[in-house]
Amino acid sequence: MSGRDFAGSVIVVTGASTGLGRAIAVETASRGAQAVVINYASSQDEAEHTARLVTDAGAEAILVQANVGEEDGCKAIVAAAARFGRIDALFNNAGITKFAPKHEDLDAVSAEDFLRLYQVNVVGAFLMVRAARSLLEAGPEAGSVVNTSSIAAVTGIGSSVPYAASKGALTTMTLSLARALAPKIRVNAVCPGFIDTPWFEKGIPAQTVERMRQGVAESTPLKVASTAEDIAGAAVFFASRAARHVTGETLLVDAGTHLGFASLSMR
Ligand code: NAP
Repeated sequence: MSGRDFAGSVIVVTGASTGLGRAIAVETASRGAQAVVINYASSQDEAEHTARLVTDAGAEAILVQANVGEEDGCKAIVAAAARFGRIDALFNNAGITKFAPKHEDLDAVSAEDFLRLYQVNVVGAFLMVRAARSLLEAGPEAGSVVNTSSIAAVTGIGSSVPYAASKGALTTMTLSLARALAPKIRVNAVCPGFIDTPWFEKGIPAQTVERMRQGVAESTPLKVASTAEDIAGAAVFFASRAARHVTGETLLVDAGTHLGFASLSMR
């Protein structure tokens, strides 16, 4: 990847008010993107802050408040890019969870929790791709879709059973859409481990989040607790020319967390 490898690109990032979405928006802007559509659900002040960072990095920032779980919301997000005549990269990053970390407590989650999470984490990503398809196909090179999945998709760990299942579905959908939309659109997914974002503060006491942060930094093979900026580069890689022959791929970006579950080390 080079410093200006998104020169002139039109980028759409869902869930970009805070966290990983914000970091992706800023990273693409600083790599030369012409315009970045910044979607959010309700955090307007934070989304405006993302817009300022994107503008400071040299790209036009376009804010769209919309629920990706609704088809009209997805169409509104895509419509914000229509005047450019193409979308070079769509980052399906918006996500929600239900915190029920004791997975053995099956009564801690409901059928409604599954449906609510799937509506945003899986159906939302599908509706975004469907709405953006013709613009993703309109550029000079294959358009790129990058889904934010999770280590939960491949290990089953995570904030709850419905969350892990929804990310598993998103990862599988990445494969289906990569097949279905080739050769005009590439579809890939990143699977982050812990990322230090406002995500946890939405459902976990601050003290617990701090313990978690320290625990992660002590236990990951790389001995770090990742920030959004640590993860954004891997997501942006999929949309870059460096990955122009990559589709249907899943990249674990978890400081090596997935290596630690069943050590076979003989030392
Ligand atoms: P975050 O800071 O809480 O960001 C979540 C973003 O999603 C916010 O911009 C939020 O908008 C947006 N959003 C939620 N529901 C939406 C909807 N229905 N329509 C549109 N936007 C919606 O958390 P994050 O950690 O950066 O999470 C980003 C992605 O990374 C998620 O898909 C998450 O599953 C994934 N992930 C996170 C971690 C982690 O450890 N943090 C690990 C693995 C994967 P508002 O602010 O307006 O609500």
